[in-house]
Amino acid sequence: MEKQEKACAHTPVKSANIFNRIRLLVSFLAIALTASYGSNSHAANASSSCGDVIERPWCDTTLSATLRTGLLLNALTLDEKLRLMAGDNVIGAITGNPAVGVSNGLARVGINTVYYSDGPLGVREGKATAHTSPLAVASSFNRNLAREVGQAIGNEVRHKGNDVVHAPTLDVVRIYTSGRVFETFGEDPYLVSQMGLEWMQGVESEGIIANAKHFGVYTQEGLLGIPLISGIIGSRFLYNAVIDERAMREIYLSPFEVLVRQGGLDSVMCSYNYVNGFPACSSKHLLTDILRDEWGFKGYVITDYVFGQKGTFGAVNAGTDLEMPIGLWYSPSRLKQQLNDGRISEQTIDQRVGGILYAMFEHGLVDRSNYPANEAAIDKDAHGATALKSAEQGIVLLKNDNLLPIDLAKTKSIAIIGEASNRFISGGGSSVVNPYDLRTPRDAISERATAAGLTISYHAGNNIPAAANVAATADIALVFVTTSSTEGDDRTCLALACLKEKIAGRNPDRLITAVAEANPNTIVILQTNSVVLTPWRQNIGALLQAWFPGQYGGIALSKILFGDINPSGKLPLTFPESAKDTLYANRVARYPGLPEFGPNGSVMRVEYDEGVMVGYRWFDDQAKNIAYPFGFGLSYTQFSYSDLAVSGTFPNLTITATITNTGERAGDEVAQLYVGLPDASASERQPPWQLKGFERVTLNPGQSKTVEFALEAHLLSYWSEATNQWALAPGCYELAVGPHSRSQPLKASVALGGGQCQ
Ligand code: BGC
Repeated sequence: MEKQEKACAHTPVKSANIFNRIRLLVSFLAIALTASYGSNSHAANASSSCGDVIERPWCDTTLSATLRTGLLLNALTLDEKLRLMAGDNVIGAITGNPAVGVSNGLARVGINTVYYSDGPLGVREGKATAHTSPLAVASSFNRNLAREVGQAIGNEVRHKGNDVVHAPTLDVVRIYTSGRVFETFGEDPYLVSQMGLEWMQGVESEGIIANAKHFGVYTQEGLLGIPLISGIIGSRFLYNAVIDERAMREIYLSPFEVLVRQGGLDSVMCSYNYVNGFPACSSKHLLTDILRDEWGFKGYVITDYVFGQKGTFGAVNAGTDLEMPIGLWYSPSRLKQQLNDGRISEQTIDQRVGGILYAMFEHGLVDRSNYPANEAAIDKDAHGATALKSAEQGIVLLKNDNLLPIDLAKTKSIAIIGEASNRFISGGGSSVVNPYDLRTPRDAISERATAAGLTISYHAGNNIPAAANVAATADIALVFVTTSSTEGDDRTCLALACLKEKIAGRNPDRLITAVAEANPNTIVILQTNSVVLTPWRQNIGALLQAWFPGQYGGIALSKILFGDINPSGKLPLTFPESAKDTLYANRVARYPGLPEFGPNGSVMRVEYDEGVMVGYRWFDDQAKNIAYPFGFGLSYTQFSYSDLAVSGTFPNLTITATITNTGERAGDEVAQLYVGLPDASASERQPPWQLKGFERVTLNPGQSKTVEFALEAHLLSYWSEATNQWALAPGCYELAVGPHSRSQPLKASVALGGGQCQ
């Protein structure tokens, strides 16, 4: 790998100069400004299925996708191949209509036009079911739910006439204030991979291709940015992730590896940033050495829109197949010129086009007509029920001083404080969904409370003393707060009130403090992009994290507050005690980066020298106090853990443990398995604990269930820089089962690789 990358290093991606960047930015902005939101559906150029097998042997469905790809490649002219390497519509990227992206087909050979859609919270095209942020799905630690949500979204993607969805988001959270944390499944690569795999399989069960993103090491948007476009300081388009192979493999690439190897993922989106000096979309190491040669990926790599691709021959030779939304670098004329110059070979073009065609054959796109756009076929009620379920299972109860569930015998009045209770709350950017339906928290709670004979008062929270007065007159005060978060712009601080909130005159921390002073029975409900600081938490009675709870989040919150359901969500991110404790605090080299003009066009160097100590691994390794740990979430009942047993022999170890509901009501618990790997060497230290298994169980009062975790070799391995492969360190492996990352009532150890336990 070293040699090949070096060979490219003295032929920098030429076109990545500042003028080209400005030109691209201007054209993108011009398009954004002139585009209007329409209700246009897909072009009516739906073509029929492949055709006669005598004339078109690649139409033979009895042949493998690989064989069919080869046959079709033989039949295509060079011009036709080049036309397949870029999208053909730019407006959709801004409006979602017609589709987010379109790649024209080739009627001559029976290849359909392909329609692309966003994204991870629902379909960005007209109205759609607005699901919770994926963070809430991750909080459920429920694999079946992830699959159900993926399937519901896949179904809408399909009935809106699309073939591919730009999701799931497999980025592992490193920077808590980054603008797109809500789109992810959190800070742990195992949790991200488990949720992502099920989500992908749900989508694909609807005949839709999942395009997993963003490959790779995409962890920030940049500060002080133009929302939807990019931050200025540490811009997502221009930062260079300087990262060692181990951290890359174990943390950031690991979910992609699982989806490719275990799920047969056939489409990946390469990210905007640079990785170790190369644009991700021009990184041969990422796209060929790892993705294809090592993991066996056979499908196609799509560029993130407009700025993902940063050159022509570099991207072609590295392994990027399709430029979206249109061919800026992959225009047929540029490609031809570089073929003529000898920078690209026709054989490599065949590999690129072959990846696209392989995915189309493998997923049946060639053998069917385009899906008709048919909103009427969407079962909105069923999908709404799924959205509600993920809010119910994803809301996390963080604190409860015997205030919840609301006791109807003792409560006569509730004050709802905060305009965030009164509207649809979500993040901005390409994952925006315009909901089919909406039940706000204020509506749902008011309805439930009024039916029970309670009185409701409301204050928007824009005048803090007035809001506190309203809260003082009620038995219970509910304070709803949110943060403004969007793709293309990182938040400037970890507190609820950052620059944007201050400019808008919203100071949620002061509101909470004032209401809590006026009413000791104050319950705070966060609807936020990510974790936030909670300096006021000692002064309040209860705290709920609802993330972005989707179109029916209000109903789910109401059910939890009144005890109609038991809260069961667990944190997929750590709540830090202080902003000073994060891995990037006061380390600008780690975030947002330091200026450094790389030969291939990067302008900021971001150092990932914390290595694998990301998320809770960092806080554990540094022995930091935290506000709420990864995996944590309260319930209205209690659970006990017993009977840890380890059986089998490596590489097939099985861990079992018994969970008992010792409380008085039914509820779900998530039993979590953490493993402490032995350090391989002084320079290859391991995080104290790593999540390697979880099982969600439903238990009636007094009921016990035994959960089982399979610990196969890969889960116990680390990436050895010395041998450049996954390896098992000889030594003592500690095993711990419990309710979260900092509570492990059951422990055992097992010696592996010839090592010993004392
Ligand atoms: C985002 C992608 C998204 C694409 C198309 C980009 O700005 O980074 O995640 O899929 O736009 O909307």
